[in-house]
Amino acid sequence: MKERRLLMIPGPIEFTDEVLDEMSKPTLSHLDPAFIEEFGQALEKMRRVWLAPHGQPFAVAGSGTLAMELAAANITEPGDNVLVVHTGYFSDRMADIFRLHGANVDIVPSAVGDLPGPEAIRAQLKAKKYKALSVTHVDTSTGVRADVKNLAAAARETGALVVVDGVCAVAGEELRMEDWGVDIALTASQKAIGVPPGLALLVASEKALAAFNARKTPVRAYYCDWQYWLPVMQAYEARKPAYFGTPPVNLVRALNVSLAQILIEGIDARFMRHARNARAFRAGLSAIGLTYVPVREELYANTLTAAYYPEGVDAGLLSRIAEEGVVLAGGLHPSIKTKYFRIGHMGMSDASEILATLGAIERGLAKSGYAFDAGAAVAAAQAVYKKL
Ligand code: PMP
Repeated sequence: MKERRLLMIPGPIEFTDEVLDEMSKPTLSHLDPAFIEEFGQALEKMRRVWLAPHGQPFAVAGSGTLAMELAAANITEPGDNVLVVHTGYFSDRMADIFRLHGANVDIVPSAVGDLPGPEAIRAQLKAKKYKALSVTHVDTSTGVRADVKNLAAAARETGALVVVDGVCAVAGEELRMEDWGVDIALTASQKAIGVPPGLALLVASEKALAAFNARKTPVRAYYCDWQYWLPVMQAYEARKPAYFGTPPVNLVRALNVSLAQILIEGIDARFMRHARNARAFRAGLSAIGLTYVPVREELYANTLTAAYYPEGVDAGLLSRIAEEGVVLAGGLHPSIKTKYFRIGHMGMSDASEILATLGAIERGLAKSGYAFDAGAAVAAAQAVYKKL
C-alpha cells in the first residue's frame, strides 16, 4: 500500500504543492521586513476572501476552537444574552464557550440533521434583547448548512451581532460577510482555506469592534484579548513590526500563498466548484443507495457529506476504504456516532479526487459485502460533470 493516501476528511484536507513548499522554507524572524510584508498581504487578502472590505482580519496561532473563543470572549460581557442556532456538536461547543465568558445562552433547538425553523429563530430574537446570534454555517457533525444570509438579516433587525462559525465553510460555501451583515466570521486554516492546521482566522465588522470598544468589563481570556491582537494586526497591515505572541511564521506565509490561489480562482468560481463537486459526489452515493444525515436536500452542505452506512455495513468500512487509498472520517454527533461517516470535499478538490473517492468507497463497500451495481456511483458522478 502506498504511504500517501488521499485525505478526504472534513479537515485537514489535501493542500496544494505551493502551500506545502512554502511551509518547508526556512523560518524568518517574525520581525523580518519580508515576513511583515507577507503577513500584511495575507491580512489584506483575508478581507477579499471574506468579502468584507471594511472588516478587521485577525490571524492567530491556534485551531478553530480558538477562533470561536476569540469571537465569544471579545464581544461577550457577563449577563449578555446570546442566542445559538442549534445544528449539532459545534453549535453546542459555541454555546459552551459563550457561557464560559458570562453569557446567558438560549438555544433554538433542532432534531439531528435538521435546523430550527426560521420562524422559531425570528420569534426568539424578538422575545428578548440579544447581544448576539450565533450560527454554525456548516455543522461538521451533521453536514447541515444554515441559511446565514436570512438569519443574519433577521438578527440585524433586532440589533444583535451576527457571529458565524465558518470553520467548515469559509472559502467553500457562499458567504458575503459585508453584504449579508455578518459581524464575525471565523474559521481555521486546515479546511477550505487550504493551509495545514494551526491558524485561527477571523474577520470582525466595524460593529463588532464597536461592541468590543464599548465593553465595561475586561475580556476574560488573556491570549484572546483583542486589545493585544488588534494593534499587532494593524501594524502588520501598515508594514510595521509589532509583537504580542510569536506568530506561526511558516503558516502565515503559507496562508498568503493559499489566499492568493483562492483569489486567482475567483471566490464565486470557487463557491460554484464546491457546489458542483458536492452535487457530483452525492449523485454517486445516491446511485448506490446511500442516504444522508441532513433531513432535507436544501440543508446539504457543499463542503462535506455526512452519509449513513448502508444496511449491514458498519464503521469497519472506513479501514477498507483506507486500504483502497482514501482516508474518510467517522461519525461525530454523539447520538448517531456509529451510524454514519463523513467525507470532506473542500479546498482544491476536483473531479479526479471526487471520482477516486467514490471508486474507493465502492471497493470498500464491495469488500464489506454490500450488494450494489458496481460502477454506478462513479458513473452517476461523471454524468453530473459531463452536464456542466
Ligand atoms: N467549528 C466547526 C464547524 C468545525 O468543523 C470545527 C472543526 N472540525 C471546529 C469548529 C473546531 O475547529 P478545530 O478543530 O480546528 O479547533
